[in-house]
Amino acid sequence: MAIDSARTITIVGGGFCGVVAAIHVLRSRQSLPTRLVLVERSPDIARGATYARRPHPFILNVPAARMSATPSDPNEFLAFAQTRLPDATAEDFLSRELYGDYLEATLQQASLLAGLNGIRFERLHDEVIDLDACDKPTRYRLTLASGVVLNSDEVVLALGNPPAAPLPIADRSANALSVNPWNPEQWSASQAPIFVLGSGLTMVDTVSALNARSSDREIHVLSRHGLLPLSQTDVGQSSPLDPALDEALRHAPSLRAIVRTVTAVARRVDAEGGDWRDVVMHVRHAVPTLWRRLTLIERQRFLRHVRPYWDVHRHRFPTPARATLERLQATRRLTIHAGYLRHVEATLGGIRVQWRPRGATTLRELLVERVFNCTGPDYDVTRCQDPLWVALRERGYAKADALRLGIETDDRLALINTAGVAMSGLYYVGPMLRATYWEATAVAELRGHAARLAERLSAGIAH
Ligand SMILES: Cc1cc2nc3c(=O)[nH]c(=O)nc-3n(C[C@H](O)[C@H](O)[C@H](O)COP(=O)(O)OP(=O)(O)OC[C@H]3O[C@@H](n4cnc5c(N)ncnc54)[C@H](O)[C@@H]3O)c2cc1C
Repeated sequence: MAIDSARTITIVGGGFCGVVAAIHVLRSRQSLPTRLVLVERSPDIARGATYARRPHPFILNVPAARMSATPSDPNEFLAFAQTRLPDATAEDFLSRELYGDYLEATLQQASLLAGLNGIRFERLHDEVIDLDACDKPTRYRLTLASGVVLNSDEVVLALGNPPAAPLPIADRSANALSVNPWNPEQWSASQAPIFVLGSGLTMVDTVSALNARSSDREIHVLSRHGLLPLSQTDVGQSSPLDPALDEALRHAPSLRAIVRTVTAVARRVDAEGGDWRDVVMHVRHAVPTLWRRLTLIERQRFLRHVRPYWDVHRHRFPTPARATLERLQATRRLTIHAGYLRHVEATLGGIRVQWRPRGATTLRELLVERVFNCTGPDYDVTRCQDPLWVALRERGYAKADALRLGIETDDRLALINTAGVAMSGLYYVGPMLRATYWEATAVAELRGHAARLAERLSAGIAH
């Protein structure tokens, strides 16, 4: 097939979503001769922040059997893992680095099919810093940090999570001492106390890495509710669900009714010897539909009142890691505080952190060596300083949703521009789909979005 007159599809971002989308395009016979370009700014492909090679062996929060990147082949990851670890089972929580190896190897394998499927595949180690719509010869012109200009008919933005927001109440020097939780050079091995802001899964990563490096230091964690994520159970244990749950969810007239229904069913399942996690798992799949049904006010209510509880039940982590945290709490090495950050200030003796404990009127204060910002990505793209996001914003191609959860997209994942119109041939896949679906952070949801988008691109029907 002649590729010279090919249409070009460019995927920006070679982390999980970009690689999964590329794999699906490469595996499909194209309706048109196609040039597929995958641009990743870091030297490693298929890693992103999550599956990067790091000195600390971070593990997946989800058992191997649920981590396939290919929805139609649920055992794909497990089968890959067993080539390295013959005893690995479906229930095992394997290393995140191994998962990156799996994505990389699967991309490599899929790229062998490129020629057969009418695709010329190119990988570029570069950063896209600008994107401009044009009429000819293609729809988009991408400017790369190296100065290269790339013309593309269709562009998939798979840019991952934006960085966390700077500490809300901090002087500039204190912000410099507030560190990226995965940056190992900043994990000092001293014994001075450490302060961690946020109590979700990023905190779990940070505490486990700090604990591995220094077994005596105190770690203080602050979050508004002081809730810890709950633990996973084995994949195999699954209790039958009340068949009325779907029906009840379908007819629940409000957020309050949804919450009441889910809580009642989870309690009943638990009381009957089952596992509430099965209910959460079931509801999770219904969330995109439920979320789209909620009014703006109800979504706000969810964020304010329900989200902290949903998050700890939904974003769980392996039981042994939970046991480690509990052991650290029992020996007072780890203290979880519920409260509100008031002030962070760099002093000669360290960083002074002040917070107001929940329900209290007086402030508490600690002098610590470092503050780890584990508050999670700042999804408000109006604040993101990444050059490509700045360009997308300035050109009016990307529009933040009203609640600043991500960006607006249509059903085909095309970006909605600031005039409210879907951008032809410009797509987004990744965690910012939360704006439309709420559940869009984990492999289970993202692989489906990436695969469906790739299918539409391959069939030439995405635009
Ligand atoms: C700590 C952590 C643990 C997680 N654990 C699990 C788990 O156990 N199970 C699970 O199901 N999910 C897990 N997740 C969620 C999920 O798997 C990830 O968030 C997922 O990797 C998101 O994929 P992504 O492609 O959107 O982002 P990423 O994988 O981060 O990829 C984005 C890529 O885009 C590149 N990029 C960005 N901008 C540009 C640009 N302008 N030009 C070129 N390249 C660019 C970046 O360098 C990066 O490689 C975890 C997430 C985190 C943060």
